[in-house]
Amino acid sequence: MPSVWISLLIRLAAVALAGLVVGAIFGAATGALVACGILLLMLLAHTAHLARLQRWLKAPEQSDIPDAWGAWGNVFVDLYRMLRRERKARARIEGDLEVFSQAAEASPDGLVFLDADDHIVWCNRVSEQHLGLRGERDVGLLVTNLIRLPGFAEFIASAMEGASLLYRPPERKGRVLSLEAIRFGKDRKLLISFDVTQIERAETVRRDFVANVSHELRTPLTVISGFIEHLVDDPPHNPRELKHQLSIMDEQAGRMLRLVEDLLTLSRIEEEAQLPREEEFDVRDLIYDVSAEGRRLSGGRHSITCEVIPAFLKGSREELRSAFSNLVSNAVRYTPEGGRILLRWATREGKGIFSVEDSGIGIPEEHIPRLTERFYRVDRGRSRESGGTGLGLSIVKHVLLRHQASLEIGSIPGVGSTFSAVFPAWRVTSPQG
Ligand code: ADP
Repeated sequence: MPSVWISLLIRLAAVALAGLVVGAIFGAATGALVACGILLLMLLAHTAHLARLQRWLKAPEQSDIPDAWGAWGNVFVDLYRMLRRERKARARIEGDLEVFSQAAEASPDGLVFLDADDHIVWCNRVSEQHLGLRGERDVGLLVTNLIRLPGFAEFIASAMEGASLLYRPPERKGRVLSLEAIRFGKDRKLLISFDVTQIERAETVRRDFVANVSHELRTPLTVISGFIEHLVDDPPHNPRELKHQLSIMDEQAGRMLRLVEDLLTLSRIEEEAQLPREEEFDVRDLIYDVSAEGRRLSGGRHSITCEVIPAFLKGSREELRSAFSNLVSNAVRYTPEGGRILLRWATREGKGIFSVEDSGIGIPEEHIPRLTERFYRVDRGRSRESGGTGLGLSIVKHVLLRHQASLEIGSIPGVGSTFSAVFPAWRVTSPQG
């Protein structure tokens, strides 16, 4: 039997005994009166405790548990223990929730929790940036009313595993997001947004590159295959005609070869995970070498001179030779006959500068920032005619980047251009020390 009942029985027995004792001494009526008086006092005490309990229950957080005696004391102690247990559990849950929301906030991806009807329950800061949501404003709203994108409502409704949707937020120009919807718990959904702008950009560059290479190869291949077809169907009897046709084919084959060579050089340099070789070599030798190459290419049509002070450069001679010779070859190809080309090595505040100055056709200013892009040409026809692949300056840029050097371009249309490779001081030493 519960202790409260035993205690009540004992108390009632004590009251009855008191009434009997008083009744035996002072008569039955007095005994009954005393017993009723004691019962009344007990009732008053219980009512007072009940009132305190009621008062306390209305605001248990704001006041301590009331003092009490007897069975009420036990009730209050039990209540107090229960309250402490409940407070501890709540603190633990709040702590867990805090850790969880901190983790969700730290996520580099946008997270939006949805209820069974696709209303927003919670979203992290990244999702606010990605999707233009506002936690305090949008909680409770239908996500499909906030993100306007064709097919989004169906995408959220089905929340198919592995399905994703690309989203270009109108207010964040140029950004591309990938959205995924995942089901969890009971009818809950998690909408995740990833920023895939860089991946998309790389994909566009790759697509453009493949399209450019195919286009560059198609023209010479079409010419060669056209001539071959002609040779097979109707071989020329005149040896001069045959020689002419073969020389065009040879020229086109040479163009493809140059393109493939430049592509291989570029991909080798771009993918070279290792640092360039750090050999110390004589800059003058290298510049004399590339100027001799330039003279051969020019075939006496230009005056090519060098102005070099003795110096040593630290880096990969092979890679730098390729970069320097590209600059010289451009100067020759874009300078009309009779023009001047000057190759110079100089120092400025300790930095080493290799420059190629020409009196050529020059470059309009708006093209200059884009010249080092792969296949970018100011005049496509002129570049092709002179044997250009459109990759020369990309190779130069990458080689210089690998040597912590920069490319400076100055040009005046109709007057000439100067391309300068600027090397950090630590790569340069003068023979004097
Ligand atoms: P290409 O093989 O077409 O020469 P590059 O990458 O070497 O390709 O150069 C890109 C473009 O920059 C060229 O097509 C040309 O329009 C321009 N360019 C480069 N060097 C010169 C120069 N010295 N003078 C005038 N234009 C130049």
